[in-house]
Amino acid sequence: MQYPEDATRAANYLRQAIPLMVKHGVEPNPRNFSLWYAYVAKSNLKLNEELDQVIAKYGTCPADNSADLFRRYIIDDEVDFSQRVQAQLGEVVNSLSQQSSDMSEGSGQYQSFLEQGIENLKQHHNENDLKTILSSLLDQTRQATEMTQQFQCQINAAHVEISSLRKELQSIQKEVTLDALTKINNRRAFDTRLQHEIDQQAVNPSRPLALIVTDIDHFKRCNDKYGHVMGDKILQSFAKVLEHCCDGVGFCARYGGEEFVVILPDHNLAQAAGIAEKIRLTTERMKIKQRDQEETVDQLTTSLGVALYQPGESTIGFIERADHYLYQAKEGGRNQVVAENQEIKN
Ligand code: GH3
Ligand code: MG
Ligand code: MG
Repeated sequence: MQYPEDATRAANYLRQAIPLMVKHGVEPNPRNFSLWYAYVAKSNLKLNEELDQVIAKYGTCPADNSADLFRRYIIDDEVDFSQRVQAQLGEVVNSLSQQSSDMSEGSGQYQSFLEQGIENLKQHHNENDLKTILSSLLDQTRQATEMTQQFQCQINAAHVEISSLRKELQSIQKEVTLDALTKINNRRAFDTRLQHEIDQQAVNPSRPLALIVTDIDHFKRCNDKYGHVMGDKILQSFAKVLEHCCDGVGFCARYGGEEFVVILPDHNLAQAAGIAEKIRLTTERMKIKQRDQEETVDQLTTSLGVALYQPGESTIGFIERADHYLYQAKEGGRNQVVAENQEIKN
């Protein structure tokens, strides 16, 4: 799904989307905002067709249908969308707020101007008719000012609402990029980040970019011996080890199952292999307590493959090469690091 680059156009889409949602009695939550934004932007005509059919059938878009359409048409762009929508919602409200305070200020000035006029008229004789007219004008102006002030209050309330919407969008954004079990980045976040780093590499080819792919050894045995719940706990502990070893320099993610990845921008092969070795050693020394027991689980080990990005290489090609070194580490007896062009370390 494509979003327009032009902020004014995007703000217009939002302005169109909101009344449509109100018209069809659609709950104003971030998911529905995304859906109706996409609808007015006509970014995917299939989505529009389906949404039209749902509205024709139910007179509104029930939550289940929204969830389904959102999953099928929007989710892929949700991260991008929520960032944009946060900025755009802010823009819309800020401009409305500015307009209304301008109005309020303008009519206030108008009222003082008339009051001053009445004062001036009082100095003169036989001006009763004029005074009456001006008094009534003054009344009307007061009413107009009150209305404008009410409008200002509504806008302020909308501001509060939008702030909470923003927070919701931020949490959706997190959910979309985090792995539910280990709370580190998920595969999707990894794919996006790796592509970004590769794009950066194209701009600056002298900047090295390394990738570690790691897979816990004999993890199936852990599950078989300690049960799936304990297996989950081990995965969570391993994810913490990864983050600790990368200490903010690498982008760690769960690639799937018991396989994890670390993107290391600005790291050459030797530096990346050093981090991989640190992960291997820390994993080996990890002590994980069994549930409700003092005893720790058997020693956990992990195998790691390390590759350096080659200019022009595809994202998949890069991952496959790192995976290939991981496979060599497994073949070589596990609990070891195999880095491109390097001796096995263990
Ligand atoms: P190898 O050293 O060759 O990697 O052996 P392995 O046993 O680790 O590999 P295998 O692919 O045979 O088994 C992986 C196991 O990981 C099987 C699967 O049930 C388990 N697994 C994958 N995801 C999860 C999860 O989220 N939680 C738990 N508890 N287990 C998981
Ligand atoms: Mg494994
Ligand atoms: Mg595996």
